[in-house]
Amino acid sequence: MRVLMLAPPGGGKGTQGVRLAEHLGCEHISSGDLLRAAVAGDTPLGREVDGYLRAGKLAPDALVTEAIRPILATHEHYVLDGFPRRLAQAEGVDFDVVVFLDVPFDVVKRRLLDRGREDDTPEVIEQRLHEYTEDTLPLVDHYRDAGVLVRIDGDRPMDEIAADLRERL
Ligand code: ATP
Ligand code: MG
Repeated sequence: MRVLMLAPPGGGKGTQGVRLAEHLGCEHISSGDLLRAAVAGDTPLGREVDGYLRAGKLAPDALVTEAIRPILATHEHYVLDGFPRRLAQAEGVDFDVVVFLDVPFDVVKRRLLDRGREDDTPEVIEQRLHEYTEDTLPLVDHYRDAGVLVRIDGDRPMDEIAADLRERL
C-alpha cells in the first residue's frame, strides 16, 4: 500500500505518519526529515536547501525529487510524508490513499510555536502557511478528483486521530 500524508505545517504528518506506517508494517519516508538530515550533515544537498528551509520556502522541485525518487524506487509499500508537496512534484507517483489531516491555521500556529523547531519562528511559520495555501492545497483537490482522498479532522487528541485513520483505511 502507498499512502501520502497531506497536512498544513504542524498538522501532524510526522506524528500520524509514523504511527500509520507502524500499523501497516511499512516504511515512513519524510522529505522534511530527509532534508533536515542533509542540512545537519552538511551534504551538497543540505547546502543547497538550507536557505529554503530557514526561510519557510519549498525547496526546488528538482532537488527534492532527485533525493526522494531513488528511495521510493526501492520500496513497494510506504507512508510518504511531505512529498509531493506541489503539483509539479506529483507526476509519476501514485497513491492508494491520500490522507488529508485538516487542521485550522490558528491551531497549527500554536502547535508550531510550542514545538519550537529552528524553522518554527512566527515569520517563517507565516511563510510556510502561505506556501501551503498556494502550492500544497491544490494537491488536495487533485487527489479528491482522483478519488483517493481521505479527509480526517486533525484537530483532536493524537490517539483519536490515529484510531480514526486505522479505521478509515
Ligand atoms: P508536520 O508538522 O505536519 O510534520 P512540518 O512542519 O514538520 O510538517 P516538513 O514536512 O518537515 O514540515 O517540511 C519542512 C520544510 O522542508 C518545508 O518547509 C520545506 O522547506 C522543506 N520541504 C519538505 N518537503 C518538501 C518538498 N516536497 N518540496 C519542497 N520542499 C520541501
Ligand atoms: Mg514533519
